[in-house]
Amino acid sequence: MRIGIIGGGQLGLMMAEAAHQLGHHVIGLDPTPGCPLHHEADDMIIAPYDDEIAFERLVVKSDVLTYEFENVDLTLVHRFEHMIPQKSRGLILSKHRVREKEFARYLRIPTPHFGFAKTKADLFVPSIIKTTMGGYDGKGQHRLVANSDIDHFSFGSNVEYIIEEWIDFDYEISVIATRDRFGHVVTYPIPINEHRDGILHISKIAGDIRSEANQNAVDYTVRIITNLDYVGTLAVEYFVRGNEVLFNEFAPRPHNSGHYSIEGCDVSQFRNHIRAITGDEVLSPRLKSPTAMINVIGKNVAYYKRSNGYSCHIHDYRKNELRQDRKMGHITYLAPTPEDLDVWISAVVEDRS
Ligand code: ATP
Ligand code: MG
Repeated sequence: MRIGIIGGGQLGLMMAEAAHQLGHHVIGLDPTPGCPLHHEADDMIIAPYDDEIAFERLVVKSDVLTYEFENVDLTLVHRFEHMIPQKSRGLILSKHRVREKEFARYLRIPTPHFGFAKTKADLFVPSIIKTTMGGYDGKGQHRLVANSDIDHFSFGSNVEYIIEEWIDFDYEISVIATRDRFGHVVTYPIPINEHRDGILHISKIAGDIRSEANQNAVDYTVRIITNLDYVGTLAVEYFVRGNEVLFNEFAPRPHNSGHYSIEGCDVSQFRNHIRAITGDEVLSPRLKSPTAMINVIGKNVAYYKRSNGYSCHIHDYRKNELRQDRKMGHITYLAPTPEDLDVWISAVVEDRS
């Protein structure tokens, strides 16, 4: 099939790699020449995402469309929804943090306490304030720890905020799920995710762990993906505190914490995404061995290539420009045992810090 990918970042690149392995043809749409997807796509339309003529060209060249990020133009997505198995509802909800959490609440999924933050009277501690829209990788977020932080906080003009209770979680997890057009849902072995400065740093999958918390997170995720009538891969992030699982957010697309599945599972989140959107049945993923994925942020991936002594898989997103907070690539480690995995990643993290 001819697959049109809206967005040319690393997710688009890895979708295209999976699509090629399955024999499909890929056309990309992105404003940046030389973006990650440009290196892999068979055909590339270089134009802004909201350029109607360019979007129409993509439609003509494609049998099916997929988006790799949330900044897609909603008017265009609505107009061509019949070609987009992911549809628009997941996009609309996940673009707005209050709507997204209200949706979780509607599905009876526990969340941290939250509300709009419009005036100082809405603020409390301990909490975190986020812009309701447009934030990613922890951008647009402020922690309020002490009452003095409330005094010092200033509201931006024309910016809408959500305030959330600060959760002292034990750890963070995400559930990656893929749903096909027949309504079957598969979920991936659950990674534990560590963030640094609000950006995902490591995802670790010691095994396919069926704890009560993990089982609840899987149930919640199936509820979400099914209610959205979503076809493709989607991810939901959760905080775990004891046996309690709290919804943080979801992304209607493959997710950074699922990159481990490219080598760590017998079917990756990207392959299942492509299978689902092209009308195939999804396959149930199996973990091959304990796996960890480390993001390469603000560093040249070549540096790791030169000095890495461990057996691993290096992904270079081939971005044009190195920037401090930019995800430049990732490295996946497969270890014989969970203990080996811990030793390896602590050595790598120490070495690279
Ligand atoms: P990304 O795009 O990387 O997923 P984001 O900008 O969408 O991030 P969140 O996922 O909401 O933002 O927050 C980033 C990280 O900040 C979380 O993974 C978590 O570590 C921390 N965080 C966010 N909200 C809370 C909270 N209410 N309590 C405790 N920690 C939080
Ligand atoms: Mg997040």
